[in-house]
Amino acid sequence: MRVIQVTKRISIMMTCILFILILSGCSKNQEVISKTTLKMDTVFQLKAYGQKANEAIEVSFARLDEIEQMASTTIDSSDISKINQAAGKEYVKVHPEIIKMIETAVKYSKLSNGAFDITVEPLVNLWGIGTDNERVPTDAEIKSKLLLVGYNDISINEEENSVKLLKEGMEIDLGGIAKGFAADEVVKIYKEYDIKGGIISLGGSSIYTVGQKPDGTPWNVGIKHPRKDNDQNYVGVINLSEQALSTSGDYERYFVKDGKRYHHILDPATGYPTDNGVISVTIVVDSSIPDCNMIADALTKTVFVSGLDSGLKFIDNIQGVSCMAITSDYKIYKSSSWNIKIDKLDSEFKMAD
Ligand code: ADP
Ligand code: MG
Repeated sequence: MRVIQVTKRISIMMTCILFILILSGCSKNQEVISKTTLKMDTVFQLKAYGQKANEAIEVSFARLDEIEQMASTTIDSSDISKINQAAGKEYVKVHPEIIKMIETAVKYSKLSNGAFDITVEPLVNLWGIGTDNERVPTDAEIKSKLLLVGYNDISINEEENSVKLLKEGMEIDLGGIAKGFAADEVVKIYKEYDIKGGIISLGGSSIYTVGQKPDGTPWNVGIKHPRKDNDQNYVGVINLSEQALSTSGDYERYFVKDGKRYHHILDPATGYPTDNGVISVTIVVDSSIPDCNMIADALTKTVFVSGLDSGLKFIDNIQGVSCMAITSDYKIYKSSSWNIKIDKLDSEFKMAD
């Protein structure tokens, strides 16, 4: 009798220990790891849970570093600097990642009639927005730099993995697409490391959400208030799952001269920052579309430059993509494909009819 009781007690104890072990295993699996790092002049934040969350984030940071080293215009040894230095002279052999970004950029330049154009770099430098040299250039200066802008003068030799800019003085800048590419790379790493859920936020402007929060509720993403510098002020909040989001705004980098705002998204046709009433553009792309983050990044500039009407029409013709644009009178316009609910809408903003 006594033996049976002891055996029973031991087996209850064993069951309890097993139960505790399972629970603690679960909670370790469910713990959201969050880390930040400074890359590409901005703060990257990665959140993840799953058994290999720590590893996934570390490997992602290393990958982000590699991408910065090849794509930056301010690192002399980068592929992009080499291409720019050899403009008008020779082909430069580059990493396949750079070919992919340039090819995607050129594809969207063609589709958008040049609204998106990575050859705007000579104008980006001339304006110097966000640097110590920012200023309003003269019309003559702008005209002379415009001669160097044109995606048709990018020549790619796919077999050799090499690129040549056909005119001397031409320069390219992947600032409008590289963060999206980088986010796609992190998504791949999250998959490899079996991440159950997480958020990839590169500068807050390229965001991808994986799965749900550990409690099963969706991840929320705030759309930045275009006129309040504080990170806690949102236009509204949206739920995302397995979707790429990119936001571009005239508030990210700008200066004000004589009451006028000059910002970092340039119209390649005029050489001036866009001035068509659009102040913020958010694009959401389904994860079923390959390179969804890179495409989202390129498309925000496309809508910015194209303006509200043609920008939204353009988006309506692309499957798996939707857009929300805000104008200077705080009206929110949506493409017909936009089916995401905007929660906690700030009362200053109104949905357009
Ligand atoms: P971020 O993600 O850093 O907030 P954006 O995605 O809005 O920035 O991209 C803005 C950057 O894109 C500019 O700083 C510039 O480098 C580049 N850019 C500006 N105008 C254009 C354009 N018309 N086409 C392509 N790239 C552009
Ligand atoms: Mg971006």
